Amino acid sequence: MWDQEVREKLAALRDRSRTRVLTALRKHGVLTQGEVARESGLSRVTASELLAELKASGLVVERGSLSPPTQPGRPPVLLALGEGAGHVLGVDFGHSHVRVAVATLARSIVAERERSFPVDEDAAAALGAAADMVDEALEAAGVDRSGVIVAGVGVPGPLNRPEDTIAAPGIMRGWHDRRISEEIGARLGLPVEVENDANLGALAEHLEGAGRGYANLIYVKASTGVGAGLVVDGRLRRGAIGSAGAIGHTSVDADGPACCCGQRGCLEAFVGGPAILEALRRVHGDRLALADVVALARSGDTPSRRLLNDAGHRIGVVLARSCNLLDPERVIVGGALGAAGDLLLDPIRDEIRRWALPDIARSVTVAAADLGERAELVGALAMVLRMPSEPTARRIDAALTELANRPRSEAAPDGPISAGSDYL
Ligand SMILES: [Zn+2]
Repeated sequence: MWDQEVREKLAALRDRSRTRVLTALRKHGVLTQGEVARESGLSRVTASELLAELKASGLVVERGSLSPPTQPGRPPVLLALGEGAGHVLGVDFGHSHVRVAVATLARSIVAERERSFPVDEDAAAALGAAADMVDEALEAAGVDRSGVIVAGVGVPGPLNRPEDTIAAPGIMRGWHDRRISEEIGARLGLPVEVENDANLGALAEHLEGAGRGYANLIYVKASTGVGAGLVVDGRLRRGAIGSAGAIGHTSVDADGPACCCGQRGCLEAFVGGPAILEALRRVHGDRLALADVVALARSGDTPSRRLLNDAGHRIGVVLARSCNLLDPERVIVGGALGAAGDLLLDPIRDEIRRWALPDIARSVTVAAADLGERAELVGALAMVLRMPSEPTARRIDAALTELANRPRSEAAPDGPISAGSDYL
């Protein structure tokens, strides 16, 4: 009897230790065996035994070795969660596109889909398109839906998180009064974490793009809509209701045109995609997309260059005020217009020099986004994989624990070392 009790206790202890090993790998992506032991608080011997078991069941795989080696001798092998450990989804709704990606818990993207779509007008249609694209991507990756643990989702409007709605009824008209995460989760059939798209862009650039190493930054998504994400002291700042960074709806002209948010003369009404395309319509017709405007400007088209220059000046004036408020180390400009590079960035730099406090203006650098138009999608994955909320972290760890503690015969077979593209 006593023996039985001891055996059960030891088995439970081993289960918990296994979970700690998997959690350490989830949190850090790749680790050496020594690092796994340290991060999970286990002895090297126990960590080594458990890793051998987990490798045999395919939940942990080797991902090359540390180079250059930190010590003489054989370089330590790097370990990561295997394909069998599960997957997450990223979904990025823009005003005029939907992107989805499937990624492993080891942070490799294994399938990706992109489609132009008028997202704002009809929420049900946009959700349907996203759900179809998720099915396609899962099929392309050969991933069963039951192995998907959670989806990170970006939406192109300021969020009212307590009410789970878009913060102003005119922005994303077709989504008005809808419970955003509830409906997206129900349509995808998955637990979801929803975030404003510019916040996701900020997170992605901070972790893996032009904002790496900068603890204080403003990321601007300049696209169909204009929004910003704020990283302060290394953390994404959402504000009281989740709407921080809505710079597109800062009024720059009290007599300006009415904006979808209900105000007048918003920045977005002047420099958002529709305003730029409308201004170029008489010159280039009405079939132009923002990417065409950027390409035309880069090839020397004077009207397109002028429009981007004017947009840069307008965005720059608003950013100069934001710089005084936040004193960031770096301003990063992404979205479809961000691809214009210095054509858009130089006028932004001019206005920050002109309107921000001189010492703040001298210390801040303005850079183009590294991740381009994929920043928001990468951010959606990074949110659930690298900076998950408590419930998401618990959900992933529970899924890992269940897999790890299954009887061996049911465990996943040895998976191949991931063939996906590393994104983080
Ligand atoms: Zn507005």
